[in-house]
Amino acid sequence: MLGAIVGDIVGSVYEWHNIKTKEFPFFREDCFFTDDTVMTCAVAEAIMNGGDRYDFVDAMKKYGRMYPDAGYGGRFGTWLFSDNREPYDSFGNGSAMRVAPCAWIMDCGFCARTGMWPSNGRAAARLSAEVTHNHPEGIKGAMATADAIFMNRFNFGGYSLDHGKPVNDNPAECKRLVKEYIEKEYGYDLSRTLDEIRPGYQFNETCQDTVPQAIIAFLESTDFEDAIRNAISLGGDSDTLAAITGSIAEAAYGVPAWIKDKAYSYLDEPLKEVLRRWRNYIVSLKTVTSKSTGGAK
Ligand SMILES: [Mg+2]
Repeated sequence: MLGAIVGDIVGSVYEWHNIKTKEFPFFREDCFFTDDTVMTCAVAEAIMNGGDRYDFVDAMKKYGRMYPDAGYGGRFGTWLFSDNREPYDSFGNGSAMRVAPCAWIMDCGFCARTGMWPSNGRAAARLSAEVTHNHPEGIKGAMATADAIFMNRFNFGGYSLDHGKPVNDNPAECKRLVKEYIEKEYGYDLSRTLDEIRPGYQFNETCQDTVPQAIIAFLESTDFEDAIRNAISLGGDSDTLAAITGSIAEAAYGVPAWIKDKAYSYLDEPLKEVLRRWRNYIVSLKTVTSKSTGGAK
């Protein structure tokens, strides 16, 4: 989930001032965390509190009210500060920007042993979306993001075998597996290149016009930093796009130590505290082993 937070922080200064290039200082001094970070932490807390529907509602309202100026979308902001605890049919990209923790409670070892995907994380991903974003596109955006994260943990983590041989030393194959699965399962068109998307891409807050672009930014990347740069270079809803890309890229490459340390310097104590508890939590679940990089480090 730190990958989402990095993308949010790096992208924070470009949401309203898009740049269409990969050449920019990675962490600007005036960067800040926004709603993407706050809600990702809220989803992590909801899972730690039991992961029931109203755990998500409670955690989102708690953290949303702790950080009232984090930049929420209009309808989500209204929902946060109201007494309404029911969903409102959103297909905004908020469901995808916050979903990362759900994909880290899934056990790669279980999947390797049984050939079945562990259901707990996907159920949490669906719930984390449904409590507000219950429109089919809102759920789809969250599920596709969570699945891409899990697949990267699995494939890049060395669990996926081709003729008995792990494919983790073949990033192109790992990415092909993600592209093939997401296109088939969710119907997103992932065939366009960043150079094809970039010129016509404008600010867009929907899942269906953010998540495919975010996945493509990962597919074209060479490492974690490059993935974030790809996402920012598209323009659009930069912090959210980069948060989604970052969450997927983290599961493939891990987050370099210097980026992790720098990102922490933008967070305040309550959010850092959630991250500390989360790290202990997923270590205790044993879903993260030496094979899988990123989230627990
Ligand atoms: Mg934001």
